[in-house]
Amino acid sequence: MNTNLLQTPIDYLKGVGPNRAEVLRKELGIHTYQDLLNLFPNRYIDKTKYYKINEIQRNTAEIQVIGKITHLKTVAQKRGKRLVADFVDDTGKIELVWFRGHKWLKESLKINEPYVIFGKVNWFNNSCSMPHPDMELLKEHEAGLRMAMQPIYPSTENLSKKGISNKVISKIIQQLFSESKQGFMETLPQSILQELKLVSKSEALLNIHFPQAPKKLALAQYRLKFEELFYIQLQLLIKNLIHKQKIKGFPFTEVGTYFNDFYQNHLPFELTNAQKRVVKEIRRDLGSSAQMNRLLQGDVGSGKTIVALMTCLLALDNNFQACLMAPTEILAIQHYQGLSELCEKLPIKISLLTGSSKTKERREIHESLEDGSLHLLIGTHALLEDKVKFKNLGLAIIDEQHRFGVAQRSKLWHKNTLPPHVLVMTATPIPRTLAMSLYGDLDISVIDELPPGRKAIKTVHRYDSNRLKVFRFIREEIEKGRQIYVVYPLIQESEKMDYKDLMDGYESIARDFPAPTYQISIVHGQMKPADKEYEMNRFVKGETQIMVATTVIEVGVNVPNASVMIIESAERFGLSQLHQLRGRVGRGAEQSYCILMTGHKLSQDSKTRLETMVRTNDGFEIAEVDLKLRGPGDIMGTQQSGVLNLRIADIVKDNEILKTARYYAKKMLTEDPSLKIPDHEVVKNTYRLMGKHKNIWNYIS
Ligand code: ADP
Ligand code: MG
Repeated sequence: MNTNLLQTPIDYLKGVGPNRAEVLRKELGIHTYQDLLNLFPNRYIDKTKYYKINEIQRNTAEIQVIGKITHLKTVAQKRGKRLVADFVDDTGKIELVWFRGHKWLKESLKINEPYVIFGKVNWFNNSCSMPHPDMELLKEHEAGLRMAMQPIYPSTENLSKKGISNKVISKIIQQLFSESKQGFMETLPQSILQELKLVSKSEALLNIHFPQAPKKLALAQYRLKFEELFYIQLQLLIKNLIHKQKIKGFPFTEVGTYFNDFYQNHLPFELTNAQKRVVKEIRRDLGSSAQMNRLLQGDVGSGKTIVALMTCLLALDNNFQACLMAPTEILAIQHYQGLSELCEKLPIKISLLTGSSKTKERREIHESLEDGSLHLLIGTHALLEDKVKFKNLGLAIIDEQHRFGVAQRSKLWHKNTLPPHVLVMTATPIPRTLAMSLYGDLDISVIDELPPGRKAIKTVHRYDSNRLKVFRFIREEIEKGRQIYVVYPLIQESEKMDYKDLMDGYESIARDFPAPTYQISIVHGQMKPADKEYEMNRFVKGETQIMVATTVIEVGVNVPNASVMIIESAERFGLSQLHQLRGRVGRGAEQSYCILMTGHKLSQDSKTRLETMVRTNDGFEIAEVDLKLRGPGDIMGTQQSGVLNLRIADIVKDNEILKTARYYAKKMLTEDPSLKIPDHEVVKNTYRLMGKHKNIWNYIS
């Protein structure tokens, strides 16, 4: 069947008709023949195995047994009757049970004739039974065309209500196959098929829907997963390529006085090798004529800020302005203070713009931005307001990018004739697998090394019942001059209760750590920004020793003297959040600690999360565990992108296939960028067609 025919509306398929077509469209998004072909089963039931009755275990799911009915009886029960058959083979007996259709069954079931039965087993005490089994006489079973594996398709309640059962779906797919005797058009080039020994498209589709044997099913699955991932990677790579060719950026040819002066005279420490490498990567981007679009990944505390600053200095050296956007006001302020300090000796004008900037300040900022006297603007979302106009914005840096949507990112872009170079910084370590799919169109730099002299944070898990010991430990640390964070969860749905937890916790801490010896800051989401800032600042300046807070402090706050992070109800936090929180400590030279407090009742996942935190400080390792626990859909930033609505591949489990697919996509584009080679024509056509088909490419931002 050729590609045009595959676009035929599903209504035209024999056995479908307008009513069913409507349901298929609504429930499964199936509009065309092609959509139906691409409805892949969720799972398969193995029909190659025949169980002996004495092999049935309590955890056996659906099974197939050969045996005979020896006896049939009707048993009265509270609600109606049930029909019960004794079913035996040479190893034992089970009961078959029916609650409906008794008359017809009694007439048609044959005693002492071999049957093949199939169904789920129920256990009651020590005997097992099978309600409403599928039954087939053995001789018919042997004569008929059997599928080794029975596919189970995705379904919805409405689908089964409207009578579109699994069997019906299987049937209409069968119809589609019988209308396409010549098979289906190949969608991968011969060279790849041969090199990877992939089965043809026709064979893959046949075996995914009607598997002839487990081995053949596996080959079909591999081929289709490869194809799916191959086209996604190809798409991302092409986007990146087009970007590099088409989207011109301002070439920053100069490495001038700002950069050199800072590097030689004011750099407060030696850069780590990772920082040096990343700065080089960025310089290479900026020096070319293409617009930079780079993601900088680095664990909390890895030193992204200094890299950001040096990038800004390159912009300034080339007579451009730069901006740095942070997700929260607190963080913007901290960046402002930190960068101002670092640039103290340089003739640079830096300003801060947030939601709470006064009208007068705003006016000054707007003016100096437009006349070019302001070099570097730091702020929050406020930077995106229409009134904010740069004279010549050459670089936009976005910190903690997962907080910003793609739309916001591009809003900064449109402030210029040419787009500014963009550097996105994130402390959320995205597993490499995922990064490849999510940000395949960005270039990625990684700071995978912490500044020297950092002591690894010691993490422990303590039960609430040990609180007194924990308090004693806090007291000792405070006596040594350290500061302490105590963090409470804040989860939207139970905001009121969380707030109460926070206040109860605060009171109990205030009781054990009384003024005037101890001073406590408190920060939570219901406070006014000004109050938050005031409390935050008291802690930053060391006026308070304890900071009781909800997760508002999660992002970026830097207080090197804080050495203990206590996380209350730690079982309620996700792994990446725990890791982010822990990253608030361990920023100074002192030994730091993270104490995870929980109750005694813990789910298996909570235990795994806590154990992972105790075992490792490595953000990437934690991200991998997180991905395994939660699946890709929940990882930050992935929901809105929808990249992961895959039909058949699984981004976690099919990691190896993904790498292979990316390798081949890259190779093809390197050797034949415009896909001119005849063997690649099929890729070009398939790719084009997918572009028209919004279902497939809806993940393109
Ligand atoms: P993050 O990557 O989390 O934004 P920061 O840029 O805030 O990390 O850096 C964390 C701390 O490490 C800061 O106090 C910073 O001054 C310090 N730092 C960064 N790079 C180095 C380095 N190469 N050597 C020593 N200290 C460094
Ligand atoms: Mg930071």
